[in-house]
Amino acid sequence: MSETDTKPQPKAVYVKSYGCQMNVYDSQRMADVMGAEGYREVATPEEADLILLNTCHIRERAAEKVYSELGRMRVLKDEAKALGREVLVGVAGCVAQAEGEEIVKRAKVVDLVVGPQSYHRLPDLIARARAKPGVVDTEFPVEDKFKVLPAASEAKTRSRGLTAFVTVQEGCDKFCTFCVVPYTRGAEVSRPVAQVVAEAAKLVEAGVREITLLGQNVNAYHGIGPDGVEWTLAKLLYRLAEIPGVARLRYTTSHPREMTDDLIEAHRDLDTLMPYLHLPVQSGSTAVLKRMNRKHSRDDYFRLVDRIRQARPDIALSSDFIVGFPGETDADFADTMDLVRQIGFASAYTFSYSQRPGTPGAEMDGQLGEPLKTARLHELQALITAQQHAFQASLVGRVVDVLFEKAGRKPGQMVGRSPYLSPVQVIGPSSLAGTIVPVRITGAKTNSLDGDLVEAGGDRRESDHMMAVHAAE
Ligand code: SAM
Ligand code: SF4
Repeated sequence: MSETDTKPQPKAVYVKSYGCQMNVYDSQRMADVMGAEGYREVATPEEADLILLNTCHIRERAAEKVYSELGRMRVLKDEAKALGREVLVGVAGCVAQAEGEEIVKRAKVVDLVVGPQSYHRLPDLIARARAKPGVVDTEFPVEDKFKVLPAASEAKTRSRGLTAFVTVQEGCDKFCTFCVVPYTRGAEVSRPVAQVVAEAAKLVEAGVREITLLGQNVNAYHGIGPDGVEWTLAKLLYRLAEIPGVARLRYTTSHPREMTDDLIEAHRDLDTLMPYLHLPVQSGSTAVLKRMNRKHSRDDYFRLVDRIRQARPDIALSSDFIVGFPGETDADFADTMDLVRQIGFASAYTFSYSQRPGTPGAEMDGQLGEPLKTARLHELQALITAQQHAFQASLVGRVVDVLFEKAGRKPGQMVGRSPYLSPVQVIGPSSLAGTIVPVRITGAKTNSLDGDLVEAGGDRRESDHMMAVHAAE
């Protein structure tokens, strides 16, 4: 033990987030847990006394990437030790859940491993790891972590900006044959309405204007309401819209099978619900969808999109696609390209199928070779990029409401987001931050828009309902 350990040191935590928005939310909550223990959050691992890697297991070689990052952490830890400073290293998230004990066996640098359902226990795990490194907690505990997690301080929330995530649902019972989520995140659980409303109200009090509800299957939400019965996501959205100061609501990620009538109606009736929907379809081939266990067909998806567009004609759609699923033929892939052409997406994530150990897809006959998967991926990506560009270009000359967040890179520039999630840059005063003002779009790039202020200051409801916008963020 070094002599510096005998006097109180200012402690610092660094959390590195990989993967999805749910991990970003979890990372913030981990920082909040440690904040309640007196730790300040820092932006680099070099400054930290506690380094947490909040990992993602979706992509191929996810675990290998974590092990190589741990190699870099070992160097940092050794350097700090040479200076008499103790640094603890923890692995959290889905790789922690999937690998468990294996991590501490393979990487001696790791002091603790904590699964996504147990991070409320961090202070206790850290105390145990200090006494004896190599603590592993990847159980699915009976207690509800959300009940015991400390809220972020108002100052901390303010520092995180005008938009915030709130996880309302976790886990998945759908068991798509390619996916590890049901194994790493466990069964579907929804947070009670009152808990979500209280968290949202606190965020708004601290200045947040836009809230995105998160869940692996967010539209399968079925949390208990104050009336003792289960509420749908739509009902929850209407309730959240009543909180004074909530300007914008979004939710992600949705499963096509869970797009209920009341949720589609909410897109028609709720001004605060933004006209942007991430609705993964994965493939345009019914035969592939069947093998993926998606439990919806290509035609179901077309019909669903029609209903959603009838309710909200300007809605911008995004999606996830997997190419090269086992047994995918040229004709199946052509069906995917055709679906994309017919629907027109504002943006989309495209993935080449990767075998995830433990999932049924990994054992299926007809695994495709990398060159074919890569060729299909590039073809699909080219189409999606063109659609994204077309969507952005379709906004030029229109007036859209922009929620301004912060200063841009250039002097005098402010940056915000359109209802369709695209970043929008204007020349304007810093007082724009936190307001929603109309902007005339003057130029489009693939990932952002340029515009001029139409009138400064003051909020106004999202009013520019474009008709049948087909494509990109
Ligand atoms: N719950 C969401 C859903 O139902 O679409 C998303 C789950 S996952 C976190 C995000 C995306 O990763 C999936 O939609 C899928 O496109 C992709 N993905 C998951 N497993 C994959 C695999 N084994 N190979 C390639 N892509 C995968
Ligand atoms: Fe994975 Fe399918 Fe569940 Fe989405 S719905 S998390 S893709 S198993």
